[in-house]
This record gives sequence, structure tokens and C-alpha cells, in this order.
Amino acid sequence: MLQVFIQAQAWDFDDDALDAELDYVQGTLGATGVTLVAGCGPLAALRVRRRPDPVVVRTRGGLLFAPDDEACAAIRCRPIVAEIARGRNRLGAAVTAVRDRGLGLRVALSTLRLGRLAERHAACAFKNALDDVSPTRLCSTHPDVRAMVASLVAQVGRMFAPDAIVLHDWDLGWMGEATAGLTIPVADRDLVCGLLAVCFCESCRQQAAERGLDVDAAVRSVRVTLHNVLESGPAGVRSFAEHLAADPVLRAYVADQSTRLTRATAHLAGTCGIPIILHRTGREHADSLEFVQRSVTGVCWQYSGVEFPDGCELEFRVEAETVSRPQGLVADVGAATARGVTAVTFAELGRLTPPAGEAVKQAIRYARRSAF
Ligand SMILES: [Zn+2]
Repeated sequence: MLQVFIQAQAWDFDDDALDAELDYVQGTLGATGVTLVAGCGPLAALRVRRRPDPVVVRTRGGLLFAPDDEACAAIRCRPIVAEIARGRNRLGAAVTAVRDRGLGLRVALSTLRLGRLAERHAACAFKNALDDVSPTRLCSTHPDVRAMVASLVAQVGRMFAPDAIVLHDWDLGWMGEATAGLTIPVADRDLVCGLLAVCFCESCRQQAAERGLDVDAAVRSVRVTLHNVLESGPAGVRSFAEHLAADPVLRAYVADQSTRLTRATAHLAGTCGIPIILHRTGREHADSLEFVQRSVTGVCWQYSGVEFPDGCELEFRVEAETVSRPQGLVADVGAATARGVTAVTFAELGRLTPPAGEAVKQAIRYARRSAF
């Protein structure tokens, strides 16, 4: 049977809306489960449902529940609770209500973008070959970051006992974020962004050096390539993947990071006792997907209208196009399930205007008929 999840934020259930909203999710839309967000990065969201007027919700991000203080005391890269979640246990109430209705429950957790952690713990932050330290993104191979993610996964498992934990932004390099705010003045955007999305923080350098890799040569390679591309335009190499294939030093460096992330993820999945689903946007380093995919229970691929890998679930983000072209969503979801996709997620509840909700409802009905 096709599993259908609606992703929701705890604040979507404010104003005593919990029962009514779950009625809508289960009864009107026909979803089989809810994915509740338990930790997020900075975000601003326009919420439209059940409000006399639209509301903009802003948060600098962080955990959306009160963590276990004792467990957190042992974490060096210690997460903070988002301002928006302080004082009220909205997430706990939502978890209970979802379970009481017999709906499936998943918990989604931001990892590397979790609110303000990169800013507060610069030593754990992503750092590119130009020594630019990201204020918003942690390094996925840093031991303190891994310890933090492992602890949070364990805590979420204990507190909420979800059917699965969906890890967001747990990957190597995300081109959009590593270069956010930068104007890339050349056509080789993929190559420039890819190069700037390779981490050379102290931890990454040290771990690579311990494995006998030539870190200085890898840094030099990135800098020289950036210089050449920005100075004189393309040298016949178009994509980052093509560049890696032609650069054995940098390829070995990136492959080593992939291997270490894969092992860490496999360890996480092996110890937490709850299925781990990786959320992928399709913008991560392409070669990290295959490695990481093998180490977890599932992959939730954010569908963007382009080809998606076999064996993954799909997430559909409900945007303006959904409202103006609802038949597009119905066709995309139907085609995915006809191809064997067994679970889909719609993100997210607070963004569902009446017409968008109608499109999601139709898509779910049609997909059920198309599913195996
Ligand atoms: Zn690093």
C-alpha cells in the first residue's frame, strides 16, 4: 500500500488546531502518516491555513523540542532550542495526537544546518579551499558533529519512538548553500560551486593526512582550477563530476570523505534501532549518493521535475505551480507510484492553501489507483 506523509511543523497546530488539522490530513487529504519536524535551520515561512490573515513564521532555527540535558552535556557541539519552541511542548502534543489516530509517525531532523550551530561552533563549520568558513553549515565529517547527530538521533528515538527518522542535509557539500550569496561570474557554475563545496576544515585536513592523502595538493588543485576558470573561462571541462574524473588528487580527497561519511551513517543506522531515511535534494556531490544510499534504510528524494534514482521515496514540495497547474502534481505523483515508488511526502501542511490542498488530495487519490 502506498504510504503518504504530510510534513508539518509543530506551529502548524497552534490555536487548538491539532484535532482539526489531523482530521484534514487523515480524512480529507487521505494521508497515512505525518512527518513532524523536530529540528530545523533558519527559516521564514508564510502560513496560510486556518488563519484569519496569513502569518509569517520566522525562526533562526534549532531544536523544536526540549532535549535531554544530561545527554546534551556530553556533546561538545551542543545544539540549542529554537526560540519559537521554548516553553511549550507542541511537538510532544502533536506526536501523541498523531499516534492516537493510528497515523504513521516520522520525525525529520536538520543536521548540518541545525540553527546557529555553525556560527557558534566555527571549528566544526564547513570551510572551503579559500578558507571561507560557512556561518550556516557544519562539516559532516567532523567528529563532534557526528557525535551531536548520533546523540540527537538517539534522543529523538527515545522520546518520540517514530517509525523512522528523516535526516535532512546530512551529506557532503551542498552547492547552493556553500556558495549562497556569491555571484559566480562565469558560465561554469556547476564546476565553481562544486569546488567551493569541498570541505577543507582542520578536521577534514587532519583525517585525510592520516590516510596518506596529499591535502596541500588537493587545496592547490581547487585554487588553481578556480583561478583558471574565473580568469580565462572554461578549459574544456564543464561539470564538477567531469573535473573530478580528470583530477586524481582531488578525486581521492572527495572519495575519502564519502567513504568516511558512509561509515558514519551506517554506524548511526546500525546503532539507533529505528529506520533512518536520508533526505536528498539532488544538489549534493553526485558521487556521495551511491555510497550513502547503501548505508541507510531509505532515501527521500526531493522531486524537482527531473529524473530521480530508483529505489527512493519522493518528496513533493507544494509551491505556486501546484496551485496554477494541479494536474501537473497529479501526473507527477501518479507516474512516480506507477514506477514503483512506495512512499511519498508532501511538504508542507502550513503551506496548503485550499486549491493546493485540493491538488494534493487529487494526487493522493490518483496515485493510490496507479500504485502497485
Ligand atoms: Zn570538514
